[in-house]
Amino acid sequence: MPYGYNGKILHVNLTDASWEVEEPGEVWYRTYVGGSSLAAYYLLKHIKAGIDPLSEDNVLVFACSVVTGAPLSGFSRYTVAAKSPLTGGFGEAEAGGYFGPELKFAGFDAIVFYGRSSKPAYLWIHDDDVEIRDAANLWGKDNWETLEGLREELGDKRIRVASIGPAGERLIPFACVQNDLEHFNGRAGMGAVMGSKNLKAVAVRGKQKLEMADPDSVKEIRHWHNERFKVHPPNVGLSKVGTSGLVKGLNQAGILPTHNFKYGEFKGVDKIDAEAYHGTIYHSSGTCYSCAVKCKRRVALEDDAYPLDPRFGGPEYEALGCLGSLLEIDNLPAIARANQICNLMGLDAISTGCVVAFAMECFEHGILNTEDTGGKALEFGDADAMLWLIEEMVNQRGIGKILSQGVKKAAAAIGRGADKYAFHIKGSELPVHDGRGKTGMALGYALSPTADHVETPHDTAFAANVTNLLPLGILEPVQPLDTDAAKARYFSLGQKAWGLNNCYGICNFCSVPIHAMTFTRLVEAIKAITGWETSLFEILRVSERSNVMARMFNNREGFGPADDRVIRRWHEPMPDGPLKGQRIDPKEFRAAVEMYYEISGWDKDGKPTPGKLTDLNLEWLIDNDDTGAGEAVSSSA
Ligand code: SF4
Repeated sequence: MPYGYNGKILHVNLTDASWEVEEPGEVWYRTYVGGSSLAAYYLLKHIKAGIDPLSEDNVLVFACSVVTGAPLSGFSRYTVAAKSPLTGGFGEAEAGGYFGPELKFAGFDAIVFYGRSSKPAYLWIHDDDVEIRDAANLWGKDNWETLEGLREELGDKRIRVASIGPAGERLIPFACVQNDLEHFNGRAGMGAVMGSKNLKAVAVRGKQKLEMADPDSVKEIRHWHNERFKVHPPNVGLSKVGTSGLVKGLNQAGILPTHNFKYGEFKGVDKIDAEAYHGTIYHSSGTCYSCAVKCKRRVALEDDAYPLDPRFGGPEYEALGCLGSLLEIDNLPAIARANQICNLMGLDAISTGCVVAFAMECFEHGILNTEDTGGKALEFGDADAMLWLIEEMVNQRGIGKILSQGVKKAAAAIGRGADKYAFHIKGSELPVHDGRGKTGMALGYALSPTADHVETPHDTAFAANVTNLLPLGILEPVQPLDTDAAKARYFSLGQKAWGLNNCYGICNFCSVPIHAMTFTRLVEAIKAITGWETSLFEILRVSERSNVMARMFNNREGFGPADDRVIRRWHEPMPDGPLKGQRIDPKEFRAAVEMYYEISGWDKDGKPTPGKLTDLNLEWLIDNDDTGAGEAVSSSA
């Protein structure tokens, strides 16, 4: 048996309720390792270009990595990936918690789903045994009822469940997947893909022990890592107040998106920041498997209007921004209530908040009016209007049904110039970091396959000190407001460094390049777990390979250089606040994007060249322009 992983991938055909186990060899595992990388491999192999993401032709991957489940802080994440119903491109989302490690303990490194079940079903994996079971009694239930129902049915309180709520069943394209009610594969609509397959949940339970190549070294690294959390400033803050601590800092820097990305400063920030949070709704801290940071937050409030239950998770930074400042809402209990509704119903809080912000700005400009909303005013700052609209979206009523398609499609359906206020990149709504104040992050949004914020390090973190980046060859501080050659170089290197966390399934908050891990110790950890004589060179290539595979997937689907952009508002001067007048110059930004193509070995159309594909062991993707292999898995076990 290999060290750190099982060597087994489970392939499940939901159409004929069959399954089989693949056992790729060590070379394959060392090439694709897990997470977004492993998922991209299967999406490219088995999805034909141009398919409907909500059809049975889509392929859905749950992927741990070769190191998931090792007893180190942050080594707990897994990826869910498929063609995105929100963007039509590569879709992936990562979550922490306990589900990923439990899947490993149950005997598998990843699950690949094909086809569609004829009726609601769930997958039950327990110590190598696999069952596809009837989920008719769970269909229509929220995530809490689903978890409780499965615990009762399977007679085990310790099962781990990844499930969808009604939003996924109703195919809302920004529906998410959740586990344990407080960990979310939030982005890109992976919940809708599960819903389209009639797959309500995946339940796992395993008692198998993962063998480590060098358990003593793993133990030593764990001790070092956990001691460092106590003194490494970003981790000290995370342990103390979770990600709510970012709210005030981003506001002070003028990059807390406010009023549908118009401003970067929120006047009501004192009512939603970490101090307000911990003085009012905070209940307790939560964590993920084996993690000493404990950054998760639970909230509680006995209140008729905005009751909060600690079982259903507390808002993190992105939810505080998307359901708060972006809407100019400073009512913290209402924000937390909206977050809990998203969690129970299975909506991505980021897209949900962005859609509400879009609707409010359309209302402000008379593009939407009370005739469209059945009499409801949708004004910035109105917490009850936000909650009303979320319910309308979940229940697919009236204007809520139109808006629930995401801002891009909703703007097209509404017309009347609504697209002017529909802020998205590649069809995806944006997390809340204003690119005018950190242009490396803006490049990340433009060039990430999923327009996400976890695929590039925030340049503000390196404005004064690049100690953590020295092993990458970044030797001088990064200027957050510049868009020049130095920024393109920093972004290219930083993207690889940050991206490896999604390949190895490691939490950014425990890892390189900002938090307590160092590159040297990370390489040592992977070596101690797997026994591979690996290096920084090899793991950065894993990250680059993953990014290139996702790029190839998007190119196949028709995405090109015009999609590598930021939103109109970031090319306009910031109207107010600390960054008043700051904008991203479109020509400079385009030059930086084109420089990135050249650095990366991509051609002028943003396509990785045959040479680059060969360099990354991806020659099988040369000339793979229009089809995946489309190989169905059909044999039963
Ligand atoms: S730092 Fe927070 S999100 Fe990351 S693994 Fe630990 S508890 Fe989970």
